[in-house]
Amino acid sequence: MAFPEHADYVIVGAGIHGLSSAWRLAERLTEKGEAVEGRIVILDKAGIAAGATGIACGVVRNNYFQPAMRNLMAHSVGVWESDPEAFSYHPVGYMQISCEAMRDDVAQIYTEQKAIGYESVFIEGANACTSYMRGIFDDWQAQGITSVLHEKRGGYANNTKSMYGLARKVEDLGVRILTGVEVKGFTRDNGSAAIRAVETDRGAITCEQVIIGTGPWVRDFWDMLDLPRQITLRDLDGNVHENVDMWRFWQLEEGVLNVDPEMLMANDGAMPPVIHVDTDAPLISDVDGSVITEEMWGIYYKPDWHFGGIQGGAAPYKVETPVNDVAIDPYGPSSPEFVSSGEFAHMWVSALAHCHKRFEGMMPKYHREPSGGIGCFTPDSFPVFDRFHENATVIADSNHGYKMLGVGRLAADEAMGEPQDLLAPFRFERFEKGELHPTSNSPFPWS
Ligand SMILES: Cc1cc2nc3c(=O)[nH]c(=O)nc-3n(C[C@H](O)[C@H](O)[C@H](O)COP(=O)(O)OP(=O)(O)OC[C@H]3O[C@@H](n4cnc5c(N)ncnc54)[C@H](O)[C@@H]3O)c2cc1C
Repeated sequence: MAFPEHADYVIVGAGIHGLSSAWRLAERLTEKGEAVEGRIVILDKAGIAAGATGIACGVVRNNYFQPAMRNLMAHSVGVWESDPEAFSYHPVGYMQISCEAMRDDVAQIYTEQKAIGYESVFIEGANACTSYMRGIFDDWQAQGITSVLHEKRGGYANNTKSMYGLARKVEDLGVRILTGVEVKGFTRDNGSAAIRAVETDRGAITCEQVIIGTGPWVRDFWDMLDLPRQITLRDLDGNVHENVDMWRFWQLEEGVLNVDPEMLMANDGAMPPVIHVDTDAPLISDVDGSVITEEMWGIYYKPDWHFGGIQGGAAPYKVETPVNDVAIDPYGPSSPEFVSSGEFAHMWVSALAHCHKRFEGMMPKYHREPSGGIGCFTPDSFPVFDRFHENATVIADSNHGYKMLGVGRLAADEAMGEPQDLLAPFRFERFEKGELHPTSNSPFPWS
């Protein structure tokens, strides 16, 4: 098939957001009885799920301190639940297991989940938490825990399998996915701000609308759109900060314990919920008994047959390289620079042993292959979903986005001229206006 010279909707990125946007656009055209063929194309310089989506842990949860994030996530969980088989989605639930410093925040999340009808159970008090956890895992031994939020919905999906399922839906509706096509820039209309054509290494494609879902590469697309590298930000106390970098990178630390995933089945033999633990109990090395940290630490994990073991991660760390010098390519495990560290392996496996007796002495089973990758974050670590230059939609999820299967669908509705309330709290102007999202006491930048 010839390379297209025009498409009404050009979508950049075949990750979760690009595919999900295309899915909704194609549905909308089909519902209106209009042809899809030739009108929607997805361009990706590599392939389907070649970016952050393809290396994500795949956790799907609602647990957020920010009401706008919780509402949005409840919508996305509904989309995951709409076709679990195609999305390789495991609705096992999710647990936020926390120390005292986080108890009030999590209690608030629970109350607000009840208000929006999102099913969860909240346990408080050290003894009650231990006995609730031992009802699921009889070897539970984590220290310093005084609350457990057990979300009954959510769980995890298999990162690439789910995207192949989504790509199938999209192609069945008539969307063309062109891989190996690199976008180099945009051409504007004379005398208008609108994007007239998307410039690629295979030629220009004229268009009516552009949707950009390029994960960590958003830094470069922001430049291509002539948007400001530095911004003015009004913080939650009303103080104004000038020349704040719009983007920054964090390294996501994840890995796999190479054991039979069955090892983490619940007492009743069922798949357990995804577990997330944050505690300020000292973390002692399971290798040599040294103190790894006396500060608050956190980990998450799940049995995962796709990764082949117990898969999970810990808090990310800030990449200190100036943002414009960070090498995004080669991405993920192929990066010579940004893969999970030896310290991560030591910390994470020791933390697993802190939580469950069954993981004591398991350090030799840590899978030594490179894993993890970088994510591109906004100044407040929450997404920007917005439209620029009249016809360019940017889906910049600040690395929250594998769970956000519904966001592309909402962005597609906006591209069709229907503003979406769920996306309204994530506009770019919030930084200047000081309409930031509240921050929690979690050690993670994304909770
Ligand atoms: C290690 C790790 C674990 C994570 N775990 C989770 C998790 O458990 N749950 C969760 O909700 N989120 C998780 N995330 C975050 C989540 O993966 C991302 O937020 C999300 O996948 C971003 O999706 P995307 O579609 O925007 O971008 P991506 O999936 O990164 O896709 C962008 C695509 O754009 C293409 N592209 C880039 N530049 C160009 C160009 N010039 N021309 C054409 N194509 C281009 C790339 O090839 C790529 O395929 C994790 C992230 C990482 C790094």
